[in-house]
This record gives sequence, structure tokens and C-alpha cells, in this order.
Amino acid sequence: MRGAVQGVGFRPFVYRLARDLGLTGFVTNDGHGVLIEVQGGRVREFDPRLLSEQPPLSDIHDLHTRELEDAAFAGFEIRGSSATDAPTAVVLADTTPCHACRAEMRDPSDRRYRHPFLNCTDCGPRFSIVESLPYDRPRTTMREFAMCDDCRREYEDPEDRRFHAQPTACPRCGPQIKGELELGPGEILALKGLGGYQLLCDARDEETVQRLRARKHREEKPLAVMVRNVAMARELVEVSRLAEELLTSRAAPIVLLPMRGGVAPSVAPGNPRLGVMLPSTPLHHLLFETIDFPVVATSGNRSDEPICIDDQEARERLGDIADRIVSHDRPIARHVDDSVDTIANDRRYPLRRARGYAPRPVRLPRGTPTILALGGHLKNTIALSIEDQAFVSQHIGDLDTPRAREAFEAVIRDFLAMYAVQPSIVARDMHPDYASTHWWNDHRFDAREVVVQHHHAHLAACLAENRHRGPALGVIWDGTGYGPDGSIWGGEFLLGDARGYERVAHFKPFRLPGGDAAAREPRRSALALGVEPEGAFTAAEVALLRQMIERGTLAPWTTSAGRLFDGVAAILGLKQRSAFEGQAAMMLEWIADPHESGSYEMPVRDGVIDWAPTIAALDADPAIASARFHNTLLDVITEVAHEAGCPTVALSGGCFQNMRLLEGTLQRLESENFTVLIHRELPPNDGGIALGQVAVAAANE
Ligand code: ZN
Ligand code: ZN
Ligand code: FE
Repeated sequence: MRGAVQGVGFRPFVYRLARDLGLTGFVTNDGHGVLIEVQGGRVREFDPRLLSEQPPLSDIHDLHTRELEDAAFAGFEIRGSSATDAPTAVVLADTTPCHACRAEMRDPSDRRYRHPFLNCTDCGPRFSIVESLPYDRPRTTMREFAMCDDCRREYEDPEDRRFHAQPTACPRCGPQIKGELELGPGEILALKGLGGYQLLCDARDEETVQRLRARKHREEKPLAVMVRNVAMARELVEVSRLAEELLTSRAAPIVLLPMRGGVAPSVAPGNPRLGVMLPSTPLHHLLFETIDFPVVATSGNRSDEPICIDDQEARERLGDIADRIVSHDRPIARHVDDSVDTIANDRRYPLRRARGYAPRPVRLPRGTPTILALGGHLKNTIALSIEDQAFVSQHIGDLDTPRAREAFEAVIRDFLAMYAVQPSIVARDMHPDYASTHWWNDHRFDAREVVVQHHHAHLAACLAENRHRGPALGVIWDGTGYGPDGSIWGGEFLLGDARGYERVAHFKPFRLPGGDAAAREPRRSALALGVEPEGAFTAAEVALLRQMIERGTLAPWTTSAGRLFDGVAAILGLKQRSAFEGQAAMMLEWIADPHESGSYEMPVRDGVIDWAPTIAALDADPAIASARFHNTLLDVITEVAHEAGCPTVALSGGCFQNMRLLEGTLQRLESENFTVLIHRELPPNDGGIALGQVAVAAANE
């Protein structure tokens, strides 16, 4: 049996079922999943009940059965795991405490009363504690905690909820908290959570939130808030039925929801949405027994660096940011950030995939060689494909800092070690200067290199996770991606599949003065589109930038949709310098008048989309102008889709984090009978690139 079948109580479940049916034989974990031999009278009832009664966290992908010769079994037994050469078993994601465990935590007569590390076969840490496969306690970070007699008895009792629960623990034998688990007034706390240290403070306290931002060097990027329960969430955001389902799901992601209020202005400045999550571990549940207010919960790091997981490192890196550190002695095997989801078209839409979801595999249409895909540059993830599964890593982050590049290397080493494979193909982005490309050039080993164009990877990722073979018209809009012609692509219509593509349309190229600097300064994009935003520049600055544009010095050509959004935002006076990637575009999205239905002219000639008439026609009222600009883009997408003549359209790239663009495109294209594919498992941003690289490399085998 393959799938999510290890660490979910599968073996004890099989044991009980076999005993129930009077069967003899055994069940064992191996590197690929679960192996069972059964023999006896009611053996025909075994398979159907196996499938219909399986444990809550399990997910069987494949079940292969075969008839064997009779064997001499004394009874039915659970055998120890056998390690095989290339494990392809699914490592489970970390899961929030189940109802039974939470009830024990709250019960003063229970021996696990208020124990911050309780778990059972139905819940608890997995990915963040697994060191290697198969999944067994000695191969997790719980190995240094010797079980007490009581825990041992439960662990060995097939009738017990903790039978073979690898990370089981109690106050006597489990990990211990170091420090007082409380949050004082005005305090910034560094808490060792599940997949790394978090920084916490009172979300209502403007002064403290500002202090946290200043110390963390995070100026305007929104912060997420943890609340005690759904009732507390409702005070801050609008919680639909689907939102409630997501918030209370086992993954317990951060969910972006329409803000009502109740938090300090600096938590998510100017943002109509707020990221909210429920307590994700027993530790967080305990914290909320001591406080009754929402807390900012953000990863323990300085600005754009990876989350901190090591205790020593935490003291060094977080010492200046936090007033106090609360730690514990269970090591974290690997960093796992909080996941971020939003809701699009009444379904979950992922924006950052980590805790609770990673490293859930995406199933590929057929077996592949072992492919290591290095991902993109921003919001990096890597992927490793083994047979017909692609294991996409947790969110690593932007590879701009040495620490982020260390984390990137660590995740590659980690995945190759965990699954004990040596890739025969390495897939990388076409960009010659990406950190991932440099890493490969420095570490080349005996594997074939496959170079994948950035936007082709976006298209292939969207097709792969939708299990669609293509062809499709990919509307791939983002900030930056290296084009085969050496220019910066980013507003692309690519017709094709994982094997290849044809670029059927793109925005009219413009010159970006300063290249990457323009991504931080929307005013430069405005100038590139031919408009000088009022009061955005000094005369000398304008003269210099205009010269760069005219002469083409340090001003690469681009077709970027992201920069087009930036430019329009700057022209409308919304934002001249961004504090984080995509900020100006987000502000443009938010300001759009929802009732405005007009649009501008944006002619498409020979596959070149001319934005100039739109830029010239922009209304002075930013709400109207933004709505009409968005509507214009919907017109263009629809026109190109009809022109391309392909009934399937795939939407990917960071621009499709814009809900107005995403949902508008969906509605428009579906009303004109197109099949529209969007991301549901991986984010539309560069967090999905690695999967696309795997798909492209596999398809070109
Ligand atoms: Zn539990
Ligand atoms: Zn114990
Ligand atoms: Fe991208």
C-alpha cells in the first residue's frame, strides 16, 4: 500500500482489523509504505474494510494485492520497520492536536493535563521531527526521550490510541518547556514553536507592534495574527463557512480574510484583509489559556531571512528582537513556516505552502527518473520526484541572503538524504544569475541538466497539479522571469504543455531603468511606461532615468505584467517605493471600485499587447482607473484566449494572487465556455516553479 500510510496508526488499525476477522499474518512499514500478509477464513472481507475503515489521517494512493502460498503464522503481528534502499513513503505533514488530545490537556485528572507535547496516532508533529525514513521513533528528534513505563504501555497496547504513536510523550518523560509560557503587557516573546521560533506580541498594542517591526526590520509587510478560537477570529475578520473549515482544519493555516478590526493599525497597514490562524500545537493552546487577546505571530527572523530553528542560533539572532525567549528541548529537524491560504472562487487557494501541507507529494501522470528541481529565486521551494510522486519542499524563501541560500542547500541535502536518492536529472531555471543556478554550477554532480524557462515552469506546474496533460493556453503573469531572448519576461501567453510551448502573445516590451531596482520602485515602471508620477522624482533623477531608458543602459527590456501593475499604481499616486514585492500592485487591487464596469483600449496586434492607449486614458480617480484597468486586462485575456483557440486556459504567476484579476478572469472565461485551471495545491507564485521544472524535465525524457 502506498500513500500517507505511515505514522497515522495504520499498522494498529490493520492489527485490530485482522484480529477481528480471525486472520493470521503480519503488517510492517517499509520504505515505500505498508506491507501486509494476511491468511485465514474471512480474508475476502479484509480489503473492503481496509479501505472503508482506514484511520483519519491516512490516504491510500495505491493498493496492490497478490495471492501467496500458505505460510506458517502463529497469529497476527506488527513487525518492526524494514529499511529499503530508496524510500518513497509519504512523510506526513504536521497536524494540530486532535479532539481527544485536547480533552486530555484540559482534564485535571489526566496524566497529560496541560502537557505541551502530547500527541497521538491521529495528530501531532511529523515532518518537523522526522530525520529519516521509515518513520519510527529512533529516526525522529524524539529519539533522545526515553519513554516512561506508562507511555511505553500505551505505545505497546494495540487497543490504545497511542499504539505505535512515534512521538508520544507525557510530562514525566517528554520534552520540557524552558521559561514561563505567558505573554506580558508590551512584551515581545520568541517562542520555539513547531517548525521554528516565532515572535509573538499583543496584536492590539500599537506601540509594541511597531517596536516588533522596527527590531525585525519589517516595515510594512502584513503580520499574521493567532487567535484562541473561531469566536475570537470573528471579532477580527469575516469568517465564512469555508473559512471556518480552513481555520479549524488539521493544517491550521494562516487564512487571509476580510478585516473587521480589533487589531493595531500597524499589524496590516492599509490592508483590507488580515491573516488569521488558530493555535497549531498544544503549546499554543496552552498559551491561550493564559491570555484572552489576539497575538501577532510571525516567524522568528530578521526581515527576509529564513525562520530560526536552532536554540543557540535563536539566542544570537533573536536576542535583540525579543524581550524574552521561551524554548523547549525537543529539537526541530527542519524549518517549517506557517502556511498561508486564501479563498478563491469558494475554494482554498494556497499562497505559501509549508506547515500542515508540506511535503505532501503531487502525483505525476507516470513514473519519472529521479529529478531534483531547484525552483526559482523568490519564494523558493525545491522539488524531488521519485517514481510518480513529486515531493515539493516547504517554503524556503527569497534566496537573497547568505542565510537563505544556506537554508536552500540544507533543504536539498535534507530531501536527498530523507529519500536516500541520487538524482539523475537536475532541473533549473534559465536565469544565469539565480542563486539556484550558481549553486548548481558550484556543485555539479553526475546528473543531466535540464534548463527550464520560468514561465513555462509556471504553466507546467499548473497543469501538473490539475493532472491535466494539456495543451492549454497559459496566462502566465508575474514580476520577473528570464526569457530565452535574454529579456525579462512576465506578461506571457504560452500555448503548450509540459513538453514545450509557443509564445502566442505578450505585453509590448518597455525598458526598466535600473532592472531589479525597478521592482522596489514602482515610480520607475511608471516612467518606463512614459508617465512621470507627480512629485515622485527630483529633476535630476528624472533626467538620469530618462537617459537610461533612451540609451538602454542598465535598462533591460521587459514584458512584465507585475511591473505594468506597479507602473499604473505609481501613476495613480498610490505608491512610489514598495516596502515589499508586490505591494504597489496589491494597493491597486484594493482600491478598485467594485461597481465600475468600464474599461480602456488595449489593442492586440500580432501577439503584442499595447498598453499605451490604456496608460494615456487612465482616469484621475484611482478607484475608477484601477477598476477599468483590471477590466481591460480581462478583455485582453478573453480576446487572446479566443484568438489562440484552445479550450483550456491555465492561470499562473504571482499576479494571480490578485483576487480581482483571478476571479474576474475565471468568471469571464468560464462564461465563454473555456475550461480554466488554477492552482489548488501549490501557490501561483514562484513557490510552484519547482514542480513545473519537474514536470518539464519528466515530459522531455
Ligand atoms: Zn491526538
Ligand atoms: Zn511518559
Ligand atoms: Fe514567476
